[in-house]
Parts: sequence; C-alpha cells; structure tokens
Amino acid sequence: MPRKISLSSPDITESEIEMVNNVLRTKHLSMGPYVADFEKELADYIGCKHSVAVNSGTSALHLCMRAIGLKDGDEVITSPFSFISSSNCILFERGVPLFVDIDPLTMNMDPAGIEEKITEKTKAILPVHIFGQPCDMAPIMKIAEEHDLVVIEDACEAIGAEYMNKKVGTFGLASTFAFYPNKQMTTGEGGMVVTDDDEVAKLCRSMRNQGRSESNIWLAHERLGYNYRMDEISAALGLGQIRRLEDMLALRKKVAETYNDHLSGQEHVEIPYVIPGVKMSWFVYVIRLSANADRNKLMEYLASVGIDTRPYFSPLHLQPFYRSEFGFAEGDFPVCESIAGSTLALPFHNNLSEDDIIYVCQSIVSGLREQGL
Ligand SMILES: *Cc1c(COP(=O)(O)O)cnc(C)c1O
Repeated sequence: MPRKISLSSPDITESEIEMVNNVLRTKHLSMGPYVADFEKELADYIGCKHSVAVNSGTSALHLCMRAIGLKDGDEVITSPFSFISSSNCILFERGVPLFVDIDPLTMNMDPAGIEEKITEKTKAILPVHIFGQPCDMAPIMKIAEEHDLVVIEDACEAIGAEYMNKKVGTFGLASTFAFYPNKQMTTGEGGMVVTDDDEVAKLCRSMRNQGRSESNIWLAHERLGYNYRMDEISAALGLGQIRRLEDMLALRKKVAETYNDHLSGQEHVEIPYVIPGVKMSWFVYVIRLSANADRNKLMEYLASVGIDTRPYFSPLHLQPFYRSEFGFAEGDFPVCESIAGSTLALPFHNNLSEDDIIYVCQSIVSGLREQGL
C-alpha cells in the first residue's frame, strides 16, 4: 500500500462522539444547553467575560464588524497575508481594507507600517495571528489608543496562543475564533466571538439570532440580524474539544518540534520562526523554500509519493475581486508576495507519527534533489 499522508486531520475521541450522540437523543438540536456550556467553558479558558458561539469564524468576524458600527467607506487596517475572511468581513459592510505589509520573520502585519496608513476614515485595526503566532500586540494597542481606533483580533488560527503571558483574544475590544476541521479544535463548522464588553456581547447575541431582543420574544426583531447560530451538535463536540485543548496543543507542539529536528540543517528549507517568549498555538507547519527551489514542482513531487501539501497563503490583495474593486496590483505588498511564493504547509495534525514525519522530510530532500538542489 502506498502511503497517503493528509494535510490535516481532526482529533475526535469516543467520548466526544458519545456527547454528540446524546444531543441526537434529545429534542434540542438548536438553542439548547450545550451552546451555553461551550460558551462558558471557552470564556473561562480564554479568561474573558463573554463569548458568543456562531456557525463559523467568518460569521464571528462579520458580527464584530457590525458590532463596531462599521459603515460605508470606513477603513480597517489589516494584513494581506491571511485567509480571505479576515478581509472579506470588512467588505461585507462596505468598508475598505487598508493592508499593511508583513514582517518577513513572523509573517504577521508589521506594526511599523500602520501609522502611515491612518486617515480620518480609519476606524479599526484587525490584526491576524497568523499560523498561531501572536501579533506584536504592544505597539498595535499603543497606536490604536493614540489614534482612537478599535482593535478586533482575528484569532481564528491562534486559540491558546499567548503574547507576554496573556492569551490572544484578550487584547482587542472583541476577538474571533474558528472551529473548522483543520483548526486546533473543531466543531465541524463553527466560530466564537469573545469580548469583555457588555454591549458588544449583547449586539452579537442578538445579531446571530435574527436580531431578536434579549427577552427573545417570538418574532420581535430589534435590529438587522442573521442566522449565525451554532447548533447543539457542534457545541457538544466543541465542549469535548475545549476540555482537551491544552493536551491537543501539546501534541501539536511535539509534532512541530519533531519536524524541526528532521528539517533543521536542510540547506533549502527554512523551518518556522517562533518569536522568543511567546506561546505559539501550532495551527499549521509551514516551511519556506529558498529562492532557487521550485515550490510547485516540489508539491507535485510530494503528491506523487502520497504527501498532501499546500501553499499558504495567497496574498489577499491579489485575489481577482480585490484587484478589480480596489485596484491592487503585484508589487503593492512585496514582503507578503515574496513569502506567499515560497511557503509550503506540510501535513500536520495531533497524531502524525514520527515515522510519517521522517517520510515527509526525506521526500522533501528527494524532491529537491530532483531539481538539482
Ligand atoms: C479559519 C479562519 C477564519 C474563519 O474561517 P471559517 O471557515 O469561516 O470558520 C478566519 N480567519 C482566519 C485567519 C482563518 O484562518
């Protein structure tokens, strides 16, 4: 049997399957006790006052943009090196993303580039903790304070990560997490808004449920809302997962370290950089290839020996509808573009065996050798 190593894989236990089955045996598949329990345990884990469970990380980001009252033409400063929804959520409200190029080491938005972008239309900063590495929040919070800007953290890839011994998701006015199956913990589809702000929490609760008021009177809609509710089946899984999150993060750290051991010293491969003193929450394991390596050819080679890999990410500003809507072009964010052209996400999940990791690393060496490297 040829090997097949997938890019990601959820980690779900029998007891979590049992929790989900228990929901199916009740009459409450939505708006029941599991969502409330999941919200409570997640808020306790993060150390925040409120959490609002929704049906995706994208919904969570959208509710944050609504909650801060983003309007037509309002600008939000964010990173071009991200998953599309951290910027799309601005477009949902007809806002304008102001991209700031990234730091080549951390691949997060470089705070040094923020201030020059600010205009009188700028309303918020939306840092994205990419691949589970915290953004440099101290300068970001300082700039936000000085210019009276709201901070919303996209922590969808970084649950459990810490910056200066403080969890990401606790710096901004509100923050978001996501639970798609490739994330550190999953609910199938799902997301969460966390905040210490009573008003933001109230608005998000109402807007996820068709704009109903807190009293939840049948068919009384106070404001424009959506169906962004999380169902009970997802919440039951989430409850099981949040209880094991620290263990799962430790497993992921171990897998990353094993990769590091087997890849460090490879001339054409740069292993992921981790800022000294931060707690990384390993979302994906992304290497960078040297300029003379052909990334796409290596991907093809790895696919031919059963190894699934992906380029992560493609610059947001170069997506066709961003180019046509905002006139972005190649060369606008050179660091982001150069990094996007050389990154490769390797298979990465909690229970990836050392044997499989060695196979992936040896295959990378063979694939590069085929290119004459
Ligand atoms: C996963 C992710 C999201 C949310 O994704 P959903 O698929 O909507 O849950 C948002 N931002 C980033 C950076 C992500 O990686």
